[in-house]
Formats: sequence, C-alpha cells, structure tokens
Amino acid sequence: MSTIRFAALKKALNRNSNEIHETEKRSSLFGRNVFNSITLQQYLTKSAYESVMSAIEKGSKIDRKIADQVAVSMKDWAISRGATHYTHWFQPLTGATAEKHDAFFESINGSVAMERFDGEQLVQQEPDASSFPNGGIRNTFEARGYTAWDPTSPAFVYGTTLCIPTIFVAYTGEALDNKTPLLRALQAVDTHATAVCKYFDKNVSKVNATLGWEQEYFLIDEALANSRPDIILTGRTLLGHTPAKGQQLDDHYFGSIPSRAMNFMKELEIESLKLGIPVKTRHNEVAPNQFELAPIFEEANLAVDHNSLLMDVMGRIAKRHQFKVLFHEKPFYGVNGSGKHNNWSLSTSDGTNLLSPGKTPMKNLQFLTFFVNTIKAVYNYEELLRASIASASNDHRLGANEAPPAIISVFIGSQLSAVLDELENVTKGKLSPEEKTDLKLNIIGKIPEILLDNTDRNRTSPFAFTGNKFEFRAVGSTANCAIPMTVLNTIVAKQLKEFKVEVDTLIEEKNLKKDEAIFNILREYIKDCKSIRFEGDGYGEAWEKEAKKRGLSNNKTTPEALKAKIDKKTIALFEEMQVMNKIEQEARFEIEVEEYTKRLQIESRVIGDIARNHVIPTAINYQNTLLENTKNLKEVFGEEYKTIANEQIALIKTISNHITQINALTLAMIEERKEANKLTGLKSAESYCKKVKPYFEQIRYHSDKLETMVDDNIWPLTKYRELLFIR
Ligand code: ADP
Ligand code: MG
Repeated sequence: MSTIRFAALKKALNRNSNEIHETEKRSSLFGRNVFNSITLQQYLTKSAYESVMSAIEKGSKIDRKIADQVAVSMKDWAISRGATHYTHWFQPLTGATAEKHDAFFESINGSVAMERFDGEQLVQQEPDASSFPNGGIRNTFEARGYTAWDPTSPAFVYGTTLCIPTIFVAYTGEALDNKTPLLRALQAVDTHATAVCKYFDKNVSKVNATLGWEQEYFLIDEALANSRPDIILTGRTLLGHTPAKGQQLDDHYFGSIPSRAMNFMKELEIESLKLGIPVKTRHNEVAPNQFELAPIFEEANLAVDHNSLLMDVMGRIAKRHQFKVLFHEKPFYGVNGSGKHNNWSLSTSDGTNLLSPGKTPMKNLQFLTFFVNTIKAVYNYEELLRASIASASNDHRLGANEAPPAIISVFIGSQLSAVLDELENVTKGKLSPEEKTDLKLNIIGKIPEILLDNTDRNRTSPFAFTGNKFEFRAVGSTANCAIPMTVLNTIVAKQLKEFKVEVDTLIEEKNLKKDEAIFNILREYIKDCKSIRFEGDGYGEAWEKEAKKRGLSNNKTTPEALKAKIDKKTIALFEEMQVMNKIEQEARFEIEVEEYTKRLQIESRVIGDIARNHVIPTAINYQNTLLENTKNLKEVFGEEYKTIANEQIALIKTISNHITQINALTLAMIEERKEANKLTGLKSAESYCKKVKPYFEQIRYHSDKLETMVDDNIWPLTKYRELLFIR
C-alpha cells in the first residue's frame, strides 16, 4: 500500500477517543464567557448600563465617557475569565472571521507595566486592512478601513482573548464586511415592519428579524483527510470512487452517533454554551459521517455571529479529537452534501412571532399580512435571493436532487394554500357586513392557531413555510448567513414599505376601513405572486419546465446567478433601503466573481496534479506488473499464454486507454485554463464554468475507473470507504 495512505490508516485505526465527562449542568455553563446584559449590569453604573442598553435596543450613540467605563469593566471581567489579549472580531468579505490580537499589557515609562484598555480601543481599531478583499473600494477612494464596536452583539472571551464583535468599514463609509449591510437591512426591516405592525397594535415599537440556522457538516479522521491533497487544498474530494456501501440503506440518519463523534460533539456543545451559543439539537444526517447541529433561534445579527463563531470553534475542537470538519457543500461525489437551512421570522420586542397565527381574527390578519408580504417579496426578487446563496461549492448541491433546485419558489402547505385561494375571491372595494363576517369566521377564522403539524412538509422546496417561520433551505453549509439574511430582510422591508403606502392610499382616497384596505391589497398580492407558489416535487424535470413557463429564473451556476446582484432593480433596491450603495454592491459582485474563478482555478490545478502525479504513475506501475506477469506466463507456457493471460492482456489495454484519456483531458483542460486566465471578471468566471469545469468530471471518470482496477495495495489516495466510516 502507498506509504502515505498506509500511515494515515494506521493512525486512524489506533485512535482512542478522549472521553468527555459532563460534570456541570448545561444551563450553568450558558453564557459564562459572554459579557452579556447581566454581566453588564453587574459591572456598570446604572446610567452607563442604561446607555448601553439603549444603544442595543434603539441604536442610540454611546458617548466616549460611557465607552471608557464599559471598556474598563469589560477588561476587568475578561481578565477574571483568563483573557490576556483583546481583539476586534469581524467578518471581512472572505466569508470567514478575522481578528488581530493585542495584549492588554502596556508598559508605562518603560518600567512599570499594567493592563490597559480604554474606550477608544473598544470603539474603534484600524486593522491592516490591505490584505482583505475590497473589490476595488479602497483603490477608488484610497481610504483606510477601520473596525467599530457593534454593541448589539456581546463581547466574549474565547481562549485567552476578549473578542469584540465589530463592523469593518472604509473611512469613506463603504462597508468592507458582511455585518454592516446586515445591520442596515435589519434596521430597514425593523422600521417598515414596525410601521405595518401599528395597524394592529399601536404599542409595537420594534421588530426583530429572527434566525435559527441548522449547520450540516462532515467529520473525517484528521490523518485520513490530510493524506488527500484535494481535501487539504479544496475542502472536497476531486477524485474517488463511491464506496460499495454509501447511504443506500438510510442507516446513518438519526442512527446512533459513533462514540468518537459523540465526544467531539459534547465538547463542542460545552464550548458553544460557554460562548452563549444556544446549541440544542445534534443528530446524524443522511450521509455517513455527516452530522447536524442547530441552536435555538436568536435575533438575526446575533445568530449570524454565532454561526460564524461556531464554525471557527468547530474546527479547533475537531483538532483536539483528531478530526477534520468539512463544511464544503459537496465533499464526496455520490454522497449527499451539506446545507445550512436558515429558519427566519419576524418578532416584536415583546416576543410576538409575526409569522405565527393568533387566537383572534385580528391577530390572524396580522399574520396573513406578514405572510403574504413575505411571499410577495420573494416573488419580486427571486433572482436576487438565488444570487444570495451562489457559490462554486453550492452549485454542486442545488438541483442535484438532494437539495432544492436553483429555481426559487415558495411552499406554504395545503391549509394555507386554501386560505389564500379563498382570500383571492373576496370582493374588491368596500365589504358588506355579511362579507366581513364571512371573512372573519370562515376564512381567516379558519386558520388554526397551531400550524406546526404541516404534515405535507415539502423537503424539495427552497423556501418553505413551516408553521411559524419560513425556512430558506437553499443556503449552503459554508455560507456566511449574513449574505442571504441581508437580502431576505431587505426585500421584505421594501415590500412592507410599499404595502403601507398602498394601504394608506386606499384608506385616504377610497375611504376604506383599515381592514378592508388591508384585505384589498393582500388580495391583489395573492393574485400577483401566484407563480412563485409551488407545492409539488421541486426535484423533477417537470418542475423545471413548469417554472420556465411561469417565468421564474433557473440560474444553475454561480456566474449566471451573480448577475442579479448588479442589475438595475437590485442596485435601486439596496440604495432605496439604505443597505448598500452602488459602489458597495459592485465591489461585492466583483469579489464574489473573483472568488468563484479562483476556486475553480485551484480545483483545476489540483485535479491535474493528482491525476498526473499520483494516478497515472500508479496505473503505469500496476500495468508493468501485469506486463511482467504476462511475459513470465509466456516463458512458462509458450503460445498457450494467450488464453491463460487473457484477462491481464485486456486489463493492460483498458488501463492504457484510461491513461491516454486522462493525459489528453488534462492537457486540454490546461489549455482552456490558459484561455480563461487571459480574461477578467465575469468573462473569466464564465469561461472557467463552461470550458474548464466540464473536464473535472471527465478526468474523474477515468481515474475512478482505474481505482477499481489497480491493486489496492498501491493505490495512492485514501479511498471513500476509508474516509467515510468513523470506527
Ligand atoms: P428540521 O428542518 O431539521 O426539521 P425544524 O423545523 O425543527 O428542523 O427547525 C427548527 C429550527 O427552526 C431550529 O433551528 C429553530 O431554532 C428554528 N426556529 C424555530 N422558530 C423560529 C423562529 N421564530 N425564527 C427563526 N427560527 C426559528
Ligand atoms: Mg430544516
């Protein structure tokens, strides 16, 4: 067996799992390392506390004196939790998180030393921003970037570092991160949802978007993962024959979790809880070695931070258990990939879920208002929503009959479909008293308070209503949720803004009562956006055809999908909602296009290297063994060898054919790559997508064939059956 593969397997088989003993109650661990509102209250004076809380709740400014006080108490608290350093923790456009650690320690006059941290250091920092992607923003403006404290997401101690969540912006004000536009989108949805809420309840003063993500991932033994150059460099396997036993038996899903994985999860949960991430469920997923972790939902900004933090923590804890976490959407060919469902809703500050039907017809009208407006928003901006989840890795999942297709549609279930169908027939204009009673009793009165048992929950829908929230299922497992959440909240904000104007106009100009006006507008919306509603099988070819007829977009690849990010309609939307200006949008588009190109370029290089440096030499080696064997048979048996070595001779020829093909395909791919590299921007990305990428599958086909023929003892790459089953 090849030495690398052999050593990796030996290591993996000799693993002892570090048993994690749970000594403390989970609830007592929760938030231990978080400077949350309770800690704030303990450490701050009353007026400082109130000022911070008002910044969190109302977005008011914190003055410098208060910031100094917060900084000092934050530092004291952090030191008491073992911190020696602090960092502004932010989410640059790489999709990951970034930090630059500074010590609290400072020497004064070169002799006395003390721990220091003041308001200025808390509020603003200037990281060396030149190495973060900016899509040309900084070149255009020659502006430096700075990070600024986001008091709505609490600081936490991670390891020995106090981490302060921040935004990252250019001095000219343009966002250089994922958090800034998200915060602006959340502000927009708050403003317009609150205004609409006032139709139903004058006391509502704030609406929060809520997010509950479900993170899927694969756990692979570290030594085995490290034995594969493709996993190290691209996060997925580019070659490898599917194992004899995969997920066909459905025995992994909700099966018992292997003890090594269980120990990793226990430690991960303990660490997550200490960091205030309210993790709740853990279970096996469909594929072997695939798992899912989901928290209790939270306010969207906090939930996004927690997902980013969790992904980071997972990698570190996996290392302690000699695992590698694969977040890639499709690490293994022929095996289900990973997603990150984004469960989303809107909630008032008193905790009323606006997407939950209520006890009274009025409450149900409020529910219907937000429900229908969300569907309308998705209808208006389906292509932008698709673009918000576009990435090279997610392209493998969407439409591959394991995740929703690239067509965005909304599933609402039969009960609510029936309600909307009836509402569509309500009379236009003023309603007679009989009609009003009928509406109240027979239509909206019919919506049951609990819709949770949506028995016909449709797993093939990208955007499904699941009883009291929408579940955006097309999000990929590597995604930063901030990106889809920014789009979703912005389009809903815009929709609610329009709705309010239209309702008010009817009330003022047509002299309609408030609920009559609301009914009238909702009825029009229901009619307008029917084509986005789809209750059938999203996987089938029939839906592709039907969707096309309905005029829905079906952007299967990232370069196609991303275009929606810079079309006129999108630019106008984000500018109107003050979420991103044109420059910020174009910069993001540029960065994402470039990222796509780079990823494909790397994959193409890696595939070429492995095929030519590992696979072909091994195949030639084995072929030589067969040739040697045939020669020997001829020596012993004379002409009779032809019948005796029949199989060997056939195999020698087949192997030759695969070697020739791999060589030719790799050379052709390299030529295409050269051409693609001459282009720039979207043109280059398109060329990689259409001209370079198709070679991946073809090279893989021949390599995987060779894998089934060549002596297992000399095959250089750790095989799927070895990677995929944790013992
Ligand atoms: P699955 O899709 O695996 O069947 P569920 O439907 O049980 O899972 O999903 C529950 C998820 O929805 C959890 O992560 C939970 O936090 C989230 N969730 C529940 N209510 C809300 C809400 N109002 N807003 C946002 N997320 C929510
Ligand atoms: Mg789900």
